[in-house]
Amino acid sequence: MPLFIKRDQIYAHQIHLLEHKLRSKEERILELETENALLHLRLAECLGKLRRDNEDVLQAQKHRLHQNHVQKYTQTALAKLLTEVQVLKQDLRDVFAVYVGFATELDEQSREILERVGSASPALQGNDGELQSLQAQVDALKHSLQEENERCRTERLRRKLLHNTLVELRGNIRVHCRVRPVLPFDAGLGQLALGSGSTLEEVVQAVNDDSVLVSCSKPGTSAMNKMFEFERVHGPEDSQEAVFEEVKPLLTSLLDGYNVCIMAYGQTGSGKTHTMIGTEDFTRPEGAPLQGVIPKSATELFRLISEKPAESHTVEVSVTEVYNNEVFDLLSKDCEGVAIGTKRDVITTSTGTSEVPALTHELVRSSVEVMQVISAVLRLRARSPTLVHRDSSRSHLIVTLTVTSKSPNALALARRLQSARQELQRPSQKEWWSPRCRRAASSRSASPASSPYHSPYHSPCLSPRPSITQAQIRTKLQLVDLAGSECVGMSGVTGAALWETSCINRSLSALSDVLGALAEQRPHVPYRNSKLTHLLQDSIGGEAKLLVMLCVSPTQRFLAESLQSLGFGARARQVHREPARRKNTTLKMK
Ligand code: ADP
Ligand code: MG
Repeated sequence: MPLFIKRDQIYAHQIHLLEHKLRSKEERILELETENALLHLRLAECLGKLRRDNEDVLQAQKHRLHQNHVQKYTQTALAKLLTEVQVLKQDLRDVFAVYVGFATELDEQSREILERVGSASPALQGNDGELQSLQAQVDALKHSLQEENERCRTERLRRKLLHNTLVELRGNIRVHCRVRPVLPFDAGLGQLALGSGSTLEEVVQAVNDDSVLVSCSKPGTSAMNKMFEFERVHGPEDSQEAVFEEVKPLLTSLLDGYNVCIMAYGQTGSGKTHTMIGTEDFTRPEGAPLQGVIPKSATELFRLISEKPAESHTVEVSVTEVYNNEVFDLLSKDCEGVAIGTKRDVITTSTGTSEVPALTHELVRSSVEVMQVISAVLRLRARSPTLVHRDSSRSHLIVTLTVTSKSPNALALARRLQSARQELQRPSQKEWWSPRCRRAASSRSASPASSPYHSPYHSPCLSPRPSITQAQIRTKLQLVDLAGSECVGMSGVTGAALWETSCINRSLSALSDVLGALAEQRPHVPYRNSKLTHLLQDSIGGEAKLLVMLCVSPTQRFLAESLQSLGFGARARQVHREPARRKNTTLKMK
């Protein structure tokens, strides 16, 4: 038994020992776990640090790469900038030079002003009240100036409207007549010697301002007493100035946006060139009183332009000659600058206006320049009569001044004309047209429009208008010295002379037909029957203003020719027997 107890005690002791061991092991495990956790913590710390270090290294590398790239880019940009800076520097130097110039000028001006103020200030000192009242007066004056400007503008527009109404009332086609004085050659070669004094008898007389009387009582023939009436009749005593006074209003119409034509009609020796060009010395100031319509028109045109805003108008001149139904450009030159009188064509553009492609135009800035151009052409014609033909009176000379206007008023007109064109294209707006135009319009609407513009001016019966672009308006002044209208018989004439005579006869009768067609308001106006009428189409039909200056010889010797010229004028004059119809009220300035 006691052995049994002992064994129990031993076991208990062993258990106790084992428990003790176990506890100490557990404590050791706990210690180790703690240590382990600490180590984990340190490891994590180390790893974090390592990662951060890596990142730093990477970042540094990236940064270095970026730096390299930026450096390269910057170098190129810098090179570019350098060039630009150099250019800018040069510009700046230039600007600076200008600035220095201005500054010096300004400096001088301000010194001058200061000096003036200095000399004026004693008078003004202590006189503040007076200064204020002066300032008030200046303000009031400025204000009234503004009002006056406004009124002036309105009045100008009203004037334009009234002027056109007046010109239209007088008729878009006017016929004036000029009877020249009796001249030595009226007697004819050797006729005086033969005692045929009757050839010098004055049978054509200007009886008053608007009538010409042709009276003739040749023995053996029935007496003639025929009166012709025209818008204005000039007698032998009338000066170039007096003749031009009646022409002048047309130049105002030109600047108001209308094409204008002034032509001299009559037999050779009746005074056409004298009326249109005048004295040979027309480029010299002392020749001014003897200047004809062309130089005087140029002077008046540039005078009117000088009243408009600066740079608002440009003028170009072209000189053409129609000979044997061919158009010659008298300003064209060969490669050595020698005038050659090149043959040109006349075409009708898509807007219905006539045009001479490749025609030489010379820009002119004054009437003197216009006259220089024309006198060069005249000298050339005189020097080399074979250049185009043998005798200047066997061709039609046409001087064209083309005015391009950019002034606000012209712009307004251009806009109005354009809107009027648009109005015309609307079918409901056709009523105001004349029957001939309505007929033309209906035939046009039956066929599809061939032109993108589909303008009503395609038909030859419609009014050719000044050509208009968005920003400018172009008008033509055509000044024509026609070939002699004498009734040259064909009998006995052969070869080139026969052809020449027949061309003159045909072109003048084509002109008469055109004016006749306009007079009778026929649906078709045969502009294209001759180069002359085709070339003048824009300035003789429609709203253009035409002035025919009939030149007649007063004496018995040229009675037949004078009667023929007066008959031509009477036919042309029928154009406005009834007061000129207003073609398009939408065009009128309100
Ligand atoms: P056209 O050109 O019609 O053939 P011109 O103009 O050459 O005729 O005139 C012939 C001549 O008559 C010229 O010597 C011109 O100076 C002269 N003459 C013409 N009209 C007048 C006039 N109204 N006053 C003075 N001389 C004139
Ligand atoms: Mg002549």
